[in-house]
Amino acid sequence: MGVAEFDLIARIRARAATRGDVILGIGDDAALLQPPAGMQLVVAMDTLNSGVHFPPETAAADIGWKALAVNLSDLAAMGAQPAWCTLSLSLPDADAGFVDGFVDGFLELAERHGVALVGGDTTRGPLSVCVTVHGFVEPGTALRRAGARAGDEIWISGTVGDAAAALAQWRAGRGADAALRSRLDRPIPRVALGRALRGIASSCIDVSDGVLADLGHVCEASGIGALLDVDALPGSEALRLALDVEPRRVLQATGGDDYELCFTAPPETGEAIVRAAASADVAVARIGRIIEGGDIATHAADGGAWSAPGAGWIHFA
Ligand code: ADP
Ligand code: MG
Repeated sequence: MGVAEFDLIARIRARAATRGDVILGIGDDAALLQPPAGMQLVVAMDTLNSGVHFPPETAAADIGWKALAVNLSDLAAMGAQPAWCTLSLSLPDADAGFVDGFVDGFLELAERHGVALVGGDTTRGPLSVCVTVHGFVEPGTALRRAGARAGDEIWISGTVGDAAAALAQWRAGRGADAALRSRLDRPIPRVALGRALRGIASSCIDVSDGVLADLGHVCEASGIGALLDVDALPGSEALRLALDVEPRRVLQATGGDDYELCFTAPPETGEAIVRAAASADVAVARIGRIIEGGDIATHAADGGAWSAPGAGWIHFA
């Protein structure tokens, strides 16, 4: 580690907030943390690489926000309460301006969720950000991919398709619509919803690779199949204005990066789910039903079969 990297760590350390359960944060060889008695520790890690997970010209503050958001989304999908995080930064050069901007976005989101940045690593290399988040869940209450049963209804939070639409606009060399682009750059992790779904949802996953791909993970883990109404997928006003019905269906069913929660629950819990969503201040919609078997059958609002041209964003495909 060079002198410049040391200076960058000092800049990060000066701004990182702490919490009572952080005995020792940034500055020693490792962090020393006090987990609450009787809780299970939930750990997730996600990496963002420039050009793969975000357009290279993305603002530093947006990269910082997104790096933490995608990780908090994983904790949300488990029903966990976030507490701590660590940050590994690989930077092409010791650019203090970039780090300051990155930390602006990162800590803005961390503060919203009371998450303390307790350590990390800073190295030189291609722009890449790796974050680990730690949270807690009451024993036996974590939401998992396994657990969906035939007859359960399938739900989704918020709207889907915006982030993929923004990415498609960017790839086409067009200036992205601001409302769509903000969904790509600043996803909102559904932490409160995940917490509120404990004891209600039978399975849960966050939508990072696309509804069909991620629902497929639930089907595989749960050993069941699904019926999905592609026209029931909630879409934003901006998406409706930007796209005709068919390309919109494709993006909503297969586009990634929305970080909404897709979950299942028995039909009799419908009212409890609507209350949970209201308490978390997010909309939810029913998008289908779990069935026996192992496949996902997709149909349109008129009942006619609909099939997606691809199955979500697959890395290295
Ligand atoms: P070591 O050589 O012991 O790994 P480092 O110089 O890498 O020590 O890190 C010194 C301290 O700064 C450690 O507490 C480490 O967790 C923290 N740190 C390093 N990089 C970051 C970062 N990007 N974000 C937060 N903390 C960091
Ligand atoms: Mg180190």
